[in-house]
Amino acid sequence: MTDWVSTGHLPTAAVVQQLVDEAHRRFTPVEEGELASYIPALATASPSHFGLCVAATGGQLFEAGEAAQPFSIQSLSKPFLFALICQAIGEDEAREKLGVNSTGLPFNSVLAVERSGEGLSNPMVNAGAIAATSLAPGETAEAKWAFIQEGFSRFAGRPLAIDRAVYASELATNRRNAGIASLLSEQERIWFDPVAATNLYTRQCALSVTARDLSLMAATLANGGRQPCTGEQVIGAVICQHVLAVMVTAGLYETSGDWLYATGLPGKSGVSGGMITVAPGKGGLATFSPPLDEAGNSVRGQLTARFLSERLGLNLFASRSEGKA
Ligand code: GLU
Repeated sequence: MTDWVSTGHLPTAAVVQQLVDEAHRRFTPVEEGELASYIPALATASPSHFGLCVAATGGQLFEAGEAAQPFSIQSLSKPFLFALICQAIGEDEAREKLGVNSTGLPFNSVLAVERSGEGLSNPMVNAGAIAATSLAPGETAEAKWAFIQEGFSRFAGRPLAIDRAVYASELATNRRNAGIASLLSEQERIWFDPVAATNLYTRQCALSVTARDLSLMAATLANGGRQPCTGEQVIGAVICQHVLAVMVTAGLYETSGDWLYATGLPGKSGVSGGMITVAPGKGGLATFSPPLDEAGNSVRGQLTARFLSERLGLNLFASRSEGKA
């Protein structure tokens, strides 16, 4: 299987560590961006926190700054949830039920669901992710939760727990997501009780992770679905390809085009300030820095991903001019 995958490799360990350190030094002084405040608990984050970690597909970690600082996973859960659902019901059925096209609209858009006519969006925005949550195997909310929490923990290579303060804070203010779920229900695009599905989605967004965890989760997607440290095959290699394709299309919501133009890589952002970038065959990058731009993407995270994509030679579209002059 791997012999026709042409993806190259990361530079030497010393070079990767040096560039990770340089990215941290370079972007620490950046002060632009605002904390997410629509989930009250996120507004208490420290704007100065900045951590990053590159995990190679071989399992080596390259860290700088607050790579061990816990924060809630938020939308970075979406690619991993989609991967687990594809694994459970098959990638064709997942695409048919959830959609995979960009909405061109913000992550929590209700209009996106209405406009598509049949309630389709994609699993990187809230509507598609709530619908995906409803498809988790299990008859009860607790059974579905066990599937989600265990699956995420297998990606991370350690048991992940909930940040209870963030969960309670988002549950108390979750009216927009509840509205999206009820619209999906009217369009028969949700496969579990809409209130329970919204609560499960919210709970999954409150899973507590670090940049180190996320780099390994991203590296699992870069490694044909095999967790680099535990060696567990978490999802199939073909499913990884589909997940990465949807991340390219919609991982940074309505700014996904700008992101791809800058990095040439699949990425995903979340409102707590995390970002992941996947370099297929090579590794995963995760950053944590809470101040966000207007679309809800970490400012330092985007700068770091762009810098490291260039300097580590990760852009999927880059090629050399070779052959006859
Ligand atoms: N839990 C957040 C929400 O549903 C996630 C959004 C994000 O991280 O972009 O609004």
